[in-house]
Amino acid sequence: MKIVTTLAEMLAISAQYPSDQTVGFVPTMGFLHEGHLSLVRTAKLQCAVTIVSIFVNPTQFAPNEDLDSYPRDFEKDQALLEKEEVDILFFPSSTELYPNGYRTYIEVEELSARLCGKSRPTHFKGVTTIVAKLINIVKPHLMFMGEKDFQQVVILEKMLEDLNISTRIVRCPIVREHDGLAMSSRNTYLSPEERKNALCLKNSLALTKELFAQGITSVSTLRAGMHKLISEANGLVDYIEFINPATLESLEHVDSGTRILLAVRIGKTRLIDNLNL
Ligand code: AMP
Repeated sequence: MKIVTTLAEMLAISAQYPSDQTVGFVPTMGFLHEGHLSLVRTAKLQCAVTIVSIFVNPTQFAPNEDLDSYPRDFEKDQALLEKEEVDILFFPSSTELYPNGYRTYIEVEELSARLCGKSRPTHFKGVTTIVAKLINIVKPHLMFMGEKDFQQVVILEKMLEDLNISTRIVRCPIVREHDGLAMSSRNTYLSPEERKNALCLKNSLALTKELFAQGITSVSTLRAGMHKLISEANGLVDYIEFINPATLESLEHVDSGTRILLAVRIGKTRLIDNLNL
């Protein structure tokens, strides 16, 4: 596995991909877990060249968020990616990606104001900006992204369409711990008690799936059941939305194509999860 840390070297490599080879890209913020590695494995299956980036992107964190404390372990990540036989690990620096005087941002209007965008109003602008920059540098054909961050995938697909970028996103399913908690680098913030309480996210999704199977389609009824279960586990609901998965628009009645998205605070940690009914 080649480790590339400068833009000049990555640009030199991406200018010379063999024309008959598919290049796959997995952008991450590191502190890798099985969720990330599932994207890597899918990329390896579909592509001749697999590139993984690790970059904790400052522009997607608000000043009061966890940029400084975000977990990092480059050596462990490197070993995990070497084991997966990744071709290139791209580990750029913040000073090169955002030099003094950096002024340009990309925003996908409307979609980025919904759901997580309400409590994190600048978050998706940071995500779309860094992903557009990384695509310009890495020049992948396919980009592998997890449905764990469902709103993020929808927003990035819209950005690629609107900006006529030919890179395609391959959506990968959510990978969960043995007890059902969606894997996340931020799970390390949870105390043992919070870790147990965090199961309320997947439990509330499972409850709704069960009630829907029994014929309940009213969002207010379903949401009330989720709220109750989450507050019993000391979780603080940021949002529970039942949405059209293409437009992210909220629904009042659900059907089998509806996606449920939720964000919940467990202690100081904000967790997200989602489920397709
Ligand atoms: P992050 O390092 O959190 O920015 O995530 C990098 C990529 O891994 C994103 O495409 C995420 O959606 C994906 N990812 C993170 N957690 C999971 C998970 N539990 N299952 C599947 N994909 C995930």
